[in-house]
Amino acid sequence: MKKRFLIGIFMILLVFNVTGCGANQQNDNVNVEDTVSKDGFLLGTYVVVKMYDSDNEEILNKVFDRLKEIEDRMSINIDKSDVSEINNNAGIKSVRVHDDVYFVLRKAKEYAEITDGAFEPTIGPLVKLWGIGSKDEKIPTQPEINDSLAQVDYNKLKLLDDNMVFLEDEQMILDLGGIAKGYAADEAKRILLENGVNSAIIDLGGNVYAVGSKPDGSPWRIAIQSPFETRGNHVGVMPESDISIVSSGDYERYFEENNKRYHHIIDSNTGYPAWNNIAGVSVLSKDSIDGDALSTALFVLGVEKGLRLVEKLEDIDVIYITKDNKIYISSQLKEKFELADEELELIIP
Ligand code: AMP
Ligand code: MG
Repeated sequence: MKKRFLIGIFMILLVFNVTGCGANQQNDNVNVEDTVSKDGFLLGTYVVVKMYDSDNEEILNKVFDRLKEIEDRMSINIDKSDVSEINNNAGIKSVRVHDDVYFVLRKAKEYAEITDGAFEPTIGPLVKLWGIGSKDEKIPTQPEINDSLAQVDYNKLKLLDDNMVFLEDEQMILDLGGIAKGYAADEAKRILLENGVNSAIIDLGGNVYAVGSKPDGSPWRIAIQSPFETRGNHVGVMPESDISIVSSGDYERYFEENNKRYHHIIDSNTGYPAWNNIAGVSVLSKDSIDGDALSTALFVLGVEKGLRLVEKLEDIDVIYITKDNKIYISSQLKEKFELADEELELIIP
């Protein structure tokens, strides 16, 4: 069984391009000497926050304390988290959760409805069954998949008054892995702005927030890194300020067997990892929570349905890169997106 971990590579390179930590001609306005940064492992991923117009490390500590608080409330791997409490009481009783968790659950349910279950916050039984990225990962049997599928249904996630939450069936498992990092990025941004920081990059392993603009006031140059391992560099660039960029793909966590890639984004219709020709999808939005839920959902939906959905949503843009070397962008990006990889064919609706 071939197994790989590429967590975050797709977007970390993006950050280097955005911020000029790498040798990149697009970033000559940023003097790396002026930056203050902090990194760590939180929310199951490598987190880096860099400030370009402040050297106050206390601000970074505040941001990291807040991220830890969010992890403690939402992680499925922490026994006493609100999410674990909900799961432990599934089919038994409702549980009162913190405002943070209730807010994320409301968003999660909203996106489950908008995407017709492509984003599925109760995907937990299938995530556990496949165990992708864990030592127990395996291809389950069809009866096992059918059993788990029967326990997945966001309509049975009940959000009641007074922050009370209930999962109707005992075997149900809530999993906020596809949305919590987006909320965390938004909170990190809020703290930076409240403390007078107007030029910063927040990177939570694939969830990136480009806060404000470059220190000289000009827009960040957002470079979308190529998801193809064999090629370096980026596929395209856009000037943007105050923007979240979230990417999803099958390159993050997976194992391979018989030339098939079994990865961590599960299709709640089939119970299998979502199979399609997408090499990577990136979503641009003002709030990262929207981009996070949508990037997962747009991966499951595929190019055609995904583009159709995005065109109906306000202030959301998408970039799909497919394995057959095409790049599809939503119509609002038409004027901004500069293609940088000549091997890709740009398709604009
Ligand atoms: P992301 O990296 O944001 O695309 O989210 C992937 C993570 O979300 C997985 O590791 C699971 O924890 C969870 N997940 C998997 N499939 C889905 C799905 N269809 N809807 C919502 N969350 C999912
Ligand atoms: Mg996501």
